[in-house]
Amino acid sequence: MDVACVRVRREAGEETRRELARDDLVAEDYEITHEDGWLYIPVSDPAAIPDEFAVVDRAAPERETQTTPADLLGDEPSYERLGRAVIVDEDDPERACEIARAIVESDLPVDTVLNKRSKIKGETRVRDWEVLAGDGTDVVHREYGHEFALDLAEVYFSPRLATERHRIAEQIAPGERVFDMFAGVGPYAIPAAAREATVVAVDVNERAIEYLRENAERNDVGERVTAIDADVREVAAEYADWADRIVMNLPHSADAFLDAAVAIAGDDCVIHYYDIQHEDDPFGPGERAIRGAAEPAYDVTVETEHVVRSYAPHEYNVCLDVRLRRAPR
Ligand code: SAM
Repeated sequence: MDVACVRVRREAGEETRRELARDDLVAEDYEITHEDGWLYIPVSDPAAIPDEFAVVDRAAPERETQTTPADLLGDEPSYERLGRAVIVDEDDPERACEIARAIVESDLPVDTVLNKRSKIKGETRVRDWEVLAGDGTDVVHREYGHEFALDLAEVYFSPRLATERHRIAEQIAPGERVFDMFAGVGPYAIPAAAREATVVAVDVNERAIEYLRENAERNDVGERVTAIDADVREVAAEYADWADRIVMNLPHSADAFLDAAVAIAGDDCVIHYYDIQHEDDPFGPGERAIRGAAEPAYDVTVETEHVVRSYAPHEYNVCLDVRLRRAPR
């Protein structure tokens, strides 16, 4: 149906919408539409629109859904959700602010907008952030029914791995002994404990382990999780021959920890080994490294080769699910 709309260039869209909204002139029952760099903002009283704006009649769908950031911006910004925070990755400061404003003014249940200021870095894999809206970098995130409190400025966490973490959790049987070598705030460890595994979770980042303990309590699995703040290589001897399952989520450098993993592995143990490799041979380097560390003490079977996600042009984040069975002596 045709409705009266203010027609503005996309760049001026958000500012105009707010100006009209201040005077209660936006027709909230209709969607904002866009075409060829123009935004069409439906208005409730065309006669009251200031002369500086062009008013045209245009087909506008009735609003069925809530206002999204794309409605306000005129294009679809790319972002990730993490609890009540939204993460964007914008180099252009003006565009970053424009997106943040649209996100906060949309109907998304969000009060914080964070912009990535660096790549993940250092041993703890934490990045720098710019707070575009809201108070800080603390969030509480829900993933497959579990709740994780964390501060993104202090610990690593990526919501993009949710499906992958669930894939691993679904393989875990009650009573298993699961060792998470690079546990972060517990997104592998806590679902494992919720499936009645006995879990040892290690991280060199003290703050991550504090959050992991808090998260274990939050999710009522505290009694099944032992959280250890240490370099996992220093803990391996204490858990020698212990694990039925080992999670190694430290892509780029997991190979340097395979001797520790083999020490921790029990007689029949599955290792979930994460790696980042070129598309030409995404699984070969991981398999060779595992065989190099585990054979001949163990028979090695690669059970699954799984692409988790595309990481960079021509590079994949992959996971090898590998079974180690102690070889007959
Ligand atoms: N598994 C968690 C997740 O999915 O959110 C965290 C993964 S993050 C990529 C890797 C983690 O390994 C970081 O929390 C970092 O602090 C930890 N880490 C790095 N080197 C370590 C080491 N030598 N021993 C134990 N943890 C380590």
